[in-house]
Amino acid sequence: MTESWGQFKSFEGKKFDTLDAEFTKEVSKLLGGKDLTACFQCAKCSAGCPVSDKVNIQVHELMRMLLFGLKEVLETDMVWLCTTCYTCQERCPQGIDITDIIFGLKNMAFKKKITPPGYVAARKSLYDSGKLYEPTEWEREDLELDDVPELNVEDTRKVLDKTGLMKLEEGE
Ligand code: SF4
Ligand code: SF4
Repeated sequence: MTESWGQFKSFEGKKFDTLDAEFTKEVSKLLGGKDLTACFQCAKCSAGCPVSDKVNIQVHELMRMLLFGLKEVLETDMVWLCTTCYTCQERCPQGIDITDIIFGLKNMAFKKKITPPGYVAARKSLYDSGKLYEPTEWEREDLELDDVPELNVEDTRKVLDKTGLMKLEEGE
């Protein structure tokens, strides 16, 4: 298993003092959250998840945590390692919009400053340069590739401004 991100590593030895029904209600109001309580824990979502061997908490366990109102779910690596491939959503026999819920969890985690630093840096890089990361020059030289041309990022920024991407602040 690769090094995982997040404070919440496993259920082992973990005691939960509070089950917060309000948190479950809050998630139910997210885009895709209306059928959250229909989950009957069949784990079909996890069986098809391409990152299931990379995460500490499987996606059906994430759903269980949501049903129990466990806010620690925002500290799990499943929230950020989810590739948003929609496989779980397609497979769910209860028709739960799982991936859409996870998008909402990402936003909730970001607002609580529970975000891997690399994601915050990628957002800034995308806005500043139009690239998620800078290609390394020596690698391109080794491959005898030309320099990467400068990008005109104005149009990209216009799109990103419309989404309000840079207005959303951690901890907001
Ligand atoms: S596939 Fe649907 S019903 Fe089954 S565990 Fe996942 S979310 Fe719950
Ligand atoms: S959308 Fe995320 S949680 Fe669902 S199968 Fe894909 S990677 Fe796994």
